[in-house]
Amino acid sequence: MAGIPVSTLIDGLLDTLYPPVCLVCRNEVDTGCICSACCEGFRRLLPPYCDRCGEPIPANRILCKRCGQGNSAAYEWSYAPYQYDGSMLKAIHRLKYDGRTALAKPLGKLLASALPNCDPLLDGRTVLDAFDVVIPVPLHPSRLKTRGFNQAELLAREVCAGTGWHLEIGNLQRVRKTPTQTAMTMEERAANVLGAFTLRETRPMLHKQVLIVDDVLTSTSTAREIARVIAEAGASRVCVCALARSA
Ligand SMILES: [Zn+2]
Ligand SMILES: [Zn+2]
Repeated sequence: MAGIPVSTLIDGLLDTLYPPVCLVCRNEVDTGCICSACCEGFRRLLPPYCDRCGEPIPANRILCKRCGQGNSAAYEWSYAPYQYDGSMLKAIHRLKYDGRTALAKPLGKLLASALPNCDPLLDGRTVLDAFDVVIPVPLHPSRLKTRGFNQAELLAREVCAGTGWHLEIGNLQRVRKTPTQTAMTMEERAANVLGAFTLRETRPMLHKQVLIVDDVLTSTSTAREIARVIAEAGASRVCVCALARSA
């Protein structure tokens, strides 16, 4: 936590004093750290999903645009239970940018508890035997130093606590800093993240079923690049999950 600014730490400390407040909206809360109004504002992301990659699609389609063009991802399936808007967007921002790491536990539990509902991701298997390895999307070391924590790792810890899957930290590395992707086209985003990730050791991936965890899926360019690296290392199956997905 060494990288968190002092003002954020003091702010965070004030949040933990009596009366307890919701860490998302700061209204008073009876128990926990997220109030019921904020929880009710978390909007579920519902089917239909792309038959090949899990991306939400309009009701009149079977495949998403990229899969329809034959540009499928190296991962088998991507899943995010919530829409990245409203109080979910606020909660993720408070976790990520305001250092409210206490939010990772309830948010990670929401993700873990949503996973069994996603049949294609688990492919009919029970939750416990679905994945051998869980890998959170790593931050670049300089970003990790500034932020003091990796929100994807905090969420992945809760997923593993809820399922018993093995958490692997440190093998997948982000070796290149990537400029923000907001204004880029799909092609530019793919080029932007190409070669940004590498595995220290490829052997632990061999014949393994790997779940990649992130906080938010936007264009999926990052997830696609990581899945490519892990699949090339011999993983038998790669899937992706995130707490939320932007439209
Ligand atoms: Zn609230
Ligand atoms: Zn697709």
